[in-house]
Amino acid sequence: MEPIILYLHIPFCRKRCSYCDFNTCAGFEQLIPAYLSALCTEIDKVSAAAESQLPVHTVYFGGGTPSLLTARQVLELMEGIRSRFEVLDGAEITLEANPGTISRQQLRELRSVGVNRLSFGMQSANQDELDLLERLHDTYGVIEAVNWARQAGFDNLSLDLIYGLPDQTLEKWQFSLDMAVQLAPEHLSLYSLTLEEGTRLHHWASRGWINWPDDDLTADMYLWAMDQLEGAGYHQYEISNFARKTTEGKFLASRHNLQYWRNQTYLGFGAGAHGSSSKLRVANETGLKEYIELCHSKVVNRFPVGPAAAEVIEIDRFSEMQETMMVGLRLTDEGVSRQVFKERFGVELCDVFGREIAELIGFGLLEWGKDGEERLRLTKRGRPLGNQAFMRFV
Ligand code: SF4
Repeated sequence: MEPIILYLHIPFCRKRCSYCDFNTCAGFEQLIPAYLSALCTEIDKVSAAAESQLPVHTVYFGGGTPSLLTARQVLELMEGIRSRFEVLDGAEITLEANPGTISRQQLRELRSVGVNRLSFGMQSANQDELDLLERLHDTYGVIEAVNWARQAGFDNLSLDLIYGLPDQTLEKWQFSLDMAVQLAPEHLSLYSLTLEEGTRLHHWASRGWINWPDDDLTADMYLWAMDQLEGAGYHQYEISNFARKTTEGKFLASRHNLQYWRNQTYLGFGAGAHGSSSKLRVANETGLKEYIELCHSKVVNRFPVGPAAAEVIEIDRFSEMQETMMVGLRLTDEGVSRQVFKERFGVELCDVFGREIAELIGFGLLEWGKDGEERLRLTKRGRPLGNQAFMRFV
């Protein structure tokens, strides 16, 4: 069986950032022990419903702020996972960390309990932008966290940055990206800011207290970053993600996220987490207290539907093909392989989506990769317009 991946959602934050619309909450840290107990129960119940012990090649602690957990708590979760799944040798174990909530000692302990990849939310190197985003850390905190992580033995670090902020100039964005590159992470994720309704940032822009982001300038920032990172040795492998080779020649793309983009099986545990397996798409209850209650009370009998599932959607073959195109085309190098598509669905890619593909190639948004007509992928010009290309497949 193909190995699967596990996502564990830790929905606690010390303070809510102004742009955040994730399923997370501040001021509920007293619920962490009860939440972790529910998480273990969910893991037990879902794994028990599977036909056999499933091989796992990545575990991802996302949030929220998973760095609010102690290393002991992470270890207990990992022990629960290892007793229920076959965690493969060399599995990628990632933890998202907020530079404002991490200590040198905690990083050492996290490394010693098996976490081998950290994703730091750096977001910006400009203090006024960090203030606008209401982040807990300053730039010095990021530098310090990266240094501590290296000293603790982490050799796989990722930094997240956000661009397209209100009133952000190209120069300020360049400063942030240059600073991130100087810290020499193995991986970088660049996200353009979306002002989601319900966030404070959206509220401030709606009232005219701050400016809305400038779309043209945001596109320029993205194009500049693509060129700059290529020159700095980072290869773009996904619309928002870049990685570089280590001195041993290993290319450290996120193995966890590759599984999503290849539309392969993943299980999500925790409040609001999503999973996908056996033609089912599952979304968990988002409320914290409701999630905890459901995990302990409900019986599970249909893998991968867990006790806290709030929504279960059965996916037909055509929808799965559409999904495969939408997520696969995010992979700027790999794209969607004609052969893999045929092996998976038993039909030719062009027999199903021939018209859409021809149209998007005509617009200059898609191309066949360098190995002939084997891989369909976005052109460089198509990368900033990815969403428009993906929509043609739904
Ligand atoms: S730390 Fe991350 S998850 Fe938490 S409020 Fe800020 S953006 Fe949201």
